[in-house]
Amino acid sequence: MSTESLNPLVIAQKQIKKACDILGVEESVYELLKEPMRVLEVSIPVQMDDGSIKVFKGYRSQHNDALGPTKGGIRFHPDVTLDEVKALSMWMTFKCGVVGLPYGGAKGGVVVNPKELSNDELQRLSRGYIRAIASIIGPEKDIPAPDVGTNAQIMAWMVDEYNKIVGYNSPAVITGKPLIYGGSKGRVAATGYGVALMAREAVKRLNMDFKDCTVAIQGFGNVGSHAGLSLKRLGAKIIAVSDVYGGIYNEKGIDAEKLVEHVNKTGTVCNFEGTTPITNEELLTMKVDILVLAALENQITSANANEVKAKIICEGANGPTTPEADKILSEKGVFVVPDILANSGGVIVSYFEWVQNLMNYCWTEKEVEERQEIMMVNAFNSIYDLAQQYKVDMRTAAYMISIKRVYEAMKVRGWL
Ligand code: NAD
Repeated sequence: MSTESLNPLVIAQKQIKKACDILGVEESVYELLKEPMRVLEVSIPVQMDDGSIKVFKGYRSQHNDALGPTKGGIRFHPDVTLDEVKALSMWMTFKCGVVGLPYGGAKGGVVVNPKELSNDELQRLSRGYIRAIASIIGPEKDIPAPDVGTNAQIMAWMVDEYNKIVGYNSPAVITGKPLIYGGSKGRVAATGYGVALMAREAVKRLNMDFKDCTVAIQGFGNVGSHAGLSLKRLGAKIIAVSDVYGGIYNEKGIDAEKLVEHVNKTGTVCNFEGTTPITNEELLTMKVDILVLAALENQITSANANEVKAKIICEGANGPTTPEADKILSEKGVFVVPDILANSGGVIVSYFEWVQNLMNYCWTEKEVEERQEIMMVNAFNSIYDLAQQYKVDMRTAAYMISIKRVYEAMKVRGWL
C-alpha cells in the first residue's frame, strides 16, 4: 500500500525542500520557509436566522513578507484545516515570487459550508471573520481576495466592515471586489484566462498545433469555466468536463458558452444536451492533449498518475498533483504547467486591482489582459529555460526561480 502523504503542508514542504537543495542555499532558508511567519486562529460567533448563536472556526496564515505585504484568498469550505491554510499561504508566496509581484503569501479559511447558510447568515459570518482578523490585514500588511466558496459580493461585505473599523474608505485592503466597488476589469476571468494562456505556451513548446488539441476540464467553477471559455476562444476543442456531481463527454466538442448557461440554470455540468455521462476518474485518465485541473487538491496521486494519458496537464487548482504523482508524470513525459504559474492570473489581476485602487484610477479590460499575458508568458519562458538548463520539471524550476527571489529579498533585508 502507498504511504503517500496527502497533507498539503507536508507536500508544500517537500516541494520547497527539493528546490532549496537544488539551489544549494543555506539550511536556514528552508527553516525560514517551511512554516508561515504568523498564523491567527479565530472563533467567529454568528447569529443565525433562528436567533441561536453558532461559532465558526477561522484562520489567517501569513507565510513570508520578504518581498512585500502578504496576499491570498479566503476559502469557505467544510474541509478547511489549519494545515491546508498554511500550505495555501506558502504556495501564494511562491506564486507571487514566480511572476515577480511585490507580495508575500497568505491565505484565510473558515470551516463552513456556505451553501448551508442564508444570505444574511453568510453576510454576518463574512463581517465577523473580518472583525476577527482586522488587526493583521490592511493594504500595506496583508490583502485578502476570494477563493473557493467566496465571491465578489462577500469581498464587498468584508471591505465595508473593514472600512467601518478603520473609519475611512480603503478599497485596496481586499481584491476581487465587484466592479462598482473598486474591482478591476478582467479579474473574474483572469485565473481561467491565464490557465488557457499557459496551455497555449506548453502546446507551442511541444510543437503541437493548438487548433488540433483536445481538452478535458476537471471542475467548472470560476477557474474551470473561464479556462473553458478562453480555450475555446484560442481554438482548442473541449471534449470532457466534470464537476463535483459527475462528468460529461462528447468527442465532437462541447460548447463552453452553452455549458456555462446550462450550469447557471441547473447548478451542474451533468445532463448537458448531446453529451454522455462519465465519471471524474474517467475524465482524469482520458486520452486528450490537455488536461485542465480546476477543482481541488490531490486529484492526481500515485494511485492514478500511471493511467494519465494527457500530454499536458495545466493546473488551475492549487495542489492538484502530489509529489509522488509528479515523479510518475515526469517519467511518462507528461508536461505539467505547475499551479504556482498556471493559476497565477488571479493574483496578477488582483495585484492590478490593488494598484488601480491605490492610484484611484481604472484600466481598460484590454490593458489588463495584455499586461497579464506579458507577465505570464515571460514567467513561463524563464521557467522553461531554467527547467531545460537544470534538467528538472517545470514545477521544480518554478520553485527555484521563486525561492531565489524570496531568498535575495531576505538576504538584502538582513534576515539571513
Ligand atoms: P469554485 O468553487 O468556483 O469551483 C470549483 C469547481 O470544482 C466546481 O465546479 C466544483 O463542482 C468542482 N469540484 C469540487 N470538487 C470536485 C471533485 N471532487 N471532482 C470534480 N470536481 C469537483 O472554485 P474556483 O474559484 O474555480 O477554484 C478552483 C481551484 O482553483 C481551487 O483549487 C482554488 O484554490 C484555485 N484557484 C482559484 C483562483 C480564483 O481566482 N478563483 C485563483 C487561483 C487558484
